[in-house]
Amino acid sequence: MDVAERCNREIQATIRDLKAVDFELAYLALLTCEGIKPLSRWEKPTDDRTLIALRGMGLYTERIRRKVRLGKAFDETIFSRTCMHLEIYAAHFRDRPVDKSAETVRVEGFLFGYPPCCVSHYVRQPYAPHEFPMQQQAILFHWTCRGCVITPSLIPYYERIHRILQAL
Ligand SMILES: [Zn+2]
Repeated sequence: MDVAERCNREIQATIRDLKAVDFELAYLALLTCEGIKPLSRWEKPTDDRTLIALRGMGLYTERIRRKVRLGKAFDETIFSRTCMHLEIYAAHFRDRPVDKSAETVRVEGFLFGYPPCCVSHYVRQPYAPHEFPMQQQAILFHWTCRGCVITPSLIPYYERIHRILQAL
């Protein structure tokens, strides 16, 4: 069963609930549900209804306490089809300050399903110029590397899920 059928039959109402909370949250949930992203992170507060909706899509969820340098602690919500990915995220980031180190970018890139080439380029030079179409870049969560050979093969899936979500 492909994503469109599944949306139509099983989880349409649940996805609508998430979309009512936030389009991007529903988009991340669907990308994760389809396995395009092993794990996703939502940094805004989530209520129980949102967690129930995510679980209704077959995702495991967890809240992770983070710290901001010189600031208050806050909770992130992470979700994945597998507990393993939640555990890897928690092992690296639970109770840790938010940072943008190369190590963090690499671990996040791995868990969020970003192409390794794009992660490496980003570590060297964030948001380096590329010739990728901006309307396609806009529906991604990673910055595409110049001459990327992986992102073009992901685009049809991101576009399809984005389109389905817009139509719901
Ligand atoms: Zn790349």
